[in-house]
Amino acid sequence: MSEIRFTDGEALRVGTIICLGRNYKEHVKEMGRDLPTQPILFLKPASSIIHDGETIHTPPFSSRLHHEVELVAVVGSDGKHISKEKAMSHIAGYAVGLDMTLRDVQERAIKNGWPWSVAKGFDTSAPLSNAVRAETVPDPHVLNIELKVNGKVRQSSNTSNMIFRLDFLVEYISSIFRLEKGDLIFTGTPEGVDRTLSGDTLEASIEKVGRLAVTVG
Ligand code: MG
Repeated sequence: MSEIRFTDGEALRVGTIICLGRNYKEHVKEMGRDLPTQPILFLKPASSIIHDGETIHTPPFSSRLHHEVELVAVVGSDGKHISKEKAMSHIAGYAVGLDMTLRDVQERAIKNGWPWSVAKGFDTSAPLSNAVRAETVPDPHVLNIELKVNGKVRQSSNTSNMIFRLDFLVEYISSIFRLEKGDLIFTGTPEGVDRTLSGDTLEASIEKVGRLAVTVG
């Protein structure tokens, strides 16, 4: 069973992991893509989660593993067609996540019109920190977000740079997927995504939310 653990000890079984593509302008630019006019969503299986201190394993069919540090929102109560006004009351907490991506596999998928499931959903592709309660993060859109690889800063931004914000995202997502307690929303990555190699240590941190350290196997 894959779970999200709160720093106060509670754990929730994770249901659906909904992820945002291209949600920071500077990241869209570095990927050479157009700014999205609506959220780009994809899913990861709950079984792709690993926790702090664990190891990412790159499948043998990929030679380009990329890191993407992201703010993760934990859904605390079920809902369908949740309004933007009520959206934040459905968020129970926040965690630091890594949306590990097989960039070569993703590029092949984009070129051929195939789904991103393999590039984004392989085992160990969703490293996750423990979650803090939403009450301790009054505004999730003012947080410094950073990723270091072997002690060197690779990604550094602020969640204020998100294109689509959480209240809108909960409204949008819940109009398509009924949200359930324990679902996770990965809110997209800022610029600085890059290749990471076997033996690397990845340390992700988000102000007020926490830290996460994993190694690449
Ligand atoms: Mg991502």
